[in-house]
Amino acid sequence: MLVYKFGGASVRSAEGIKNIVKIVSGIKEDLFIVVSAMGKTTNALEDVQAAFMKADREGALSKLSEVETYHKQIIKELFADEANGNTAFKSVFDELKSLIETGLGDDYDRWYDQIVSYGEIISTMIVGAYLTECGLCNKWLDMRKLLITDSNFREANVNVFESEKRFKEVVRFDDCKIYIGQGFIGSNIQGRPTTLGREGSDYSAAVVGNILDAESVTIWKDVPGVLNADPRIFEKTVHIPELTYLDAVELAYSGAQVIHPKTIKPLENKQIPLYVRPFNTPTEAGSVIKSEIAKPIGVPVLILKKNQVLFTLRPLDFSFILEESLSWIFMVVEKYRLKVSLIQSSAVSISICVNNSRYLQRAFDELSTDYRVSYNKDLELLTIRGTNPEIIKETTTGREILVQQRTRRIARFVMREKTIK
Ligand code: ASP
Ligand code: MG
Repeated sequence: MLVYKFGGASVRSAEGIKNIVKIVSGIKEDLFIVVSAMGKTTNALEDVQAAFMKADREGALSKLSEVETYHKQIIKELFADEANGNTAFKSVFDELKSLIETGLGDDYDRWYDQIVSYGEIISTMIVGAYLTECGLCNKWLDMRKLLITDSNFREANVNVFESEKRFKEVVRFDDCKIYIGQGFIGSNIQGRPTTLGREGSDYSAAVVGNILDAESVTIWKDVPGVLNADPRIFEKTVHIPELTYLDAVELAYSGAQVIHPKTIKPLENKQIPLYVRPFNTPTEAGSVIKSEIAKPIGVPVLILKKNQVLFTLRPLDFSFILEESLSWIFMVVEKYRLKVSLIQSSAVSISICVNNSRYLQRAFDELSTDYRVSYNKDLELLTIRGTNPEIIKETTTGREILVQQRTRRIARFVMREKTIK
C-alpha cells in the first residue's frame, strides 16, 4: 500500500482538489491519503482561538465566519450539487461554532488543539466527499480516534503502539481501496484532541506509513522536489534527486521547510522510502529519500531559519558555566519548550539560539534568578552544508554576524535578519 500526503497549498482551492482526483485515480495499489487544512486555515483558526481565549466570543465567531465563507466557496466550485459537499461540512461547522459559543477556554494549549484541529476535519470531509462524487470509493477516518498521542498539547508525540492497535482494527482496505485521514491531529488516550506541531502533517503521514508497512510515502508539494535552497530566498537553486535519511534529518533540523523534522524517524525505522513530488507536474520524479543513494549530494545546501533569538547567559556571581549549571539551564529550556538551533559556550557565558516563541520571556525571567540575560531578536540562522569559501563569501558578505560555527562540512551563521538575494 501507498501513503500520499497533500499539504495545505495543494488543497487551497477547488482546482487543487480536482488535481488530487487526477493524481489518485490512476493508482492500482491500496492508498491512504493524509490531508492538511486548506490553505491558510490553520492560521485563521489560530486567530479564532486567540480571540476565544480572550473571552472575545464575538470576535472569534466573526473570524470563524470568514473560515466558513472560504470553505463554502470551494464547495460551491467543486460540487455539481452543493448539497453533497455541504451535508457533512455543516454539522462539523455547527459543532465548532457551539464550542466557541459555550466552551470554557480554561487551558490555552488544550483549547488550541480542540479548535485548530477542525481545519483538517473539514478539509478531509470535503476532499472525501468530492472523491465520492467522482466515483472513487473512499473511507473517511477520524484521526482523533486512531492516532493516539501523549498529552503534550500543541506538540504531541505519537504513541505508535496504541495507534497501531487502532489502525489495524479499522484500516483493512476491504471495502474501499482509498482511505482518507487528517494530518496534524490525533488525541490523547482520554480522547482529547491533540496536534503534532505546526506543519505536522508530514509526521502523520510517516507514522501512518510505518504502522501500515507502506511500500512508500509520498509528500506532494508545490516545489519540484528537494532543492539545495529555498527558491523564495536564494537564487540559482538546484534540484537534488536523491538524499539519505541522514541528509534529510540534517536539512529538516536546520530549518529546511520541505519536510517536518519528525518525519524521517518512523520511515527510517522501517526503511520506507519517502518521495517528495511536485503537485502541479505529477509526472515528474521529484526527489527520493532512502537509506542508500547512488551518489552523494554534490552541491552546497543552504538553509535559512528565520525568526531566531540569540540569548546569552552570564552567571551573576561570576562562576564558571559547569555541568550542573548547564543541566539546570536546559531544564528551563525544556520546560518552556524552546527550540534550540545552536549553542555556543565559553568559560563564563553560554549563548543559545532558539526559535522565537511566546514562552521566551517566562524562560528569561526564570533564568535571571542566577544569570544576567541579554538577547537579540529578529535574527536568522544560515546553515551551509557542503560549505566552501566562495559560497560563504556570497551569502555573508556585508552581513552582521553575531555567532559563527564551522566544521569541515558545515558552516553556521547567526545574522541580523535580511533577505539574501
Ligand atoms: N495544517 C497544519 C499547519 O498548517 C499542519 C500542516 O499543514 O502540516 O501547520
Ligand atoms: Mg498547513
